Amino acid sequence: MIDSNWRRLPTGYFTHQLVELPNPLENAPESPERIEAIETRLMAGGVDDILRRVDCGPAPRETVLLAHDADYLADLERASAGDAEALKRFSEPDTKVGPDTFRCAMASAGAVVRAVDELFTRTVKNAFCAVRPPGHHAWRNRASGFCYLNNVAIGALYARARYKLERIAVLDFDVHHGDGTESILAGLPQFRFFSLFQWPLFPFTRMEPTPENVVATPLAAGAEGHVLSDVVEHIWLPALEAYKPQLVLLSAGFDAHVEEHMAQLKAAEIDYARMTRRLVRAAGELCEGRLVSVLEGGYAVRSLARSVLTHIQGLVRND
Ligand SMILES: [Zn+2]
Repeated sequence: MIDSNWRRLPTGYFTHQLVELPNPLENAPESPERIEAIETRLMAGGVDDILRRVDCGPAPRETVLLAHDADYLADLERASAGDAEALKRFSEPDTKVGPDTFRCAMASAGAVVRAVDELFTRTVKNAFCAVRPPGHHAWRNRASGFCYLNNVAIGALYARARYKLERIAVLDFDVHHGDGTESILAGLPQFRFFSLFQWPLFPFTRMEPTPENVVATPLAAGAEGHVLSDVVEHIWLPALEAYKPQLVLLSAGFDAHVEEHMAQLKAAEIDYARMTRRLVRAAGELCEGRLVSVLEGGYAVRSLARSVLTHIQGLVRND
């Protein structure tokens, strides 16, 4: 008999208190207002009280080191403490390091690790991690594009190590290519990385040829929103069905939205609803619903908040 009791569990909302701290770069689009807008919208949508809300602490250092080099992590910590030599490693404006950067990044990774644990101890059926800073541009040894630690890669590598998984799918529908995630997971046989992204666009980095365990779908500027859900339906889902993942991690960036100024795709809430519904259904059929969605980009705070509400409603639903 198929055990479907997991469907009665709540969706988890994993966050941390440091999301309220400002970006070290003044007037950065990656700001505390993003999470604030999401929370306000969840409350207005009546969704917040049916979620299991968990305020998370930092990821254990040894877990972060599954995805990052020790000297890089040490430099991030030293740079946050003001060490001039270490700060040279973070010289780009969009990876500026301030006094709180290290602990904010560790808390974001911690939320994803906690979400993975709660999925496997079955206190939640699936999860959304409302975290900042985001992570998918962070490489093993390099920060990039508002990202310092690769939250989703840390979660994936942790799940592999802790729960001995052999097939983990990492999906990325942020409008920017998840170059950090690709670079960390490329060539590792226990992972498959699926990403769609506007191309060419920041970070202008892709591995050529595409690694065997990577499915990359570049989209031209101006693509309509349904193109994203078409990729999910016609490329990701058949590949997932063949792959049979034991866990799905999702880099959920909402900056392909038509109201975003950083990119030129034309997605709307309905497209995020469609993609979410299909992925939740696939996770339900393939791996007892085990899906951890991790916030990446999305900078137009009003459309971000509406899109995340739609996305979480899709995680909550069971059909
Ligand atoms: Zn993005």
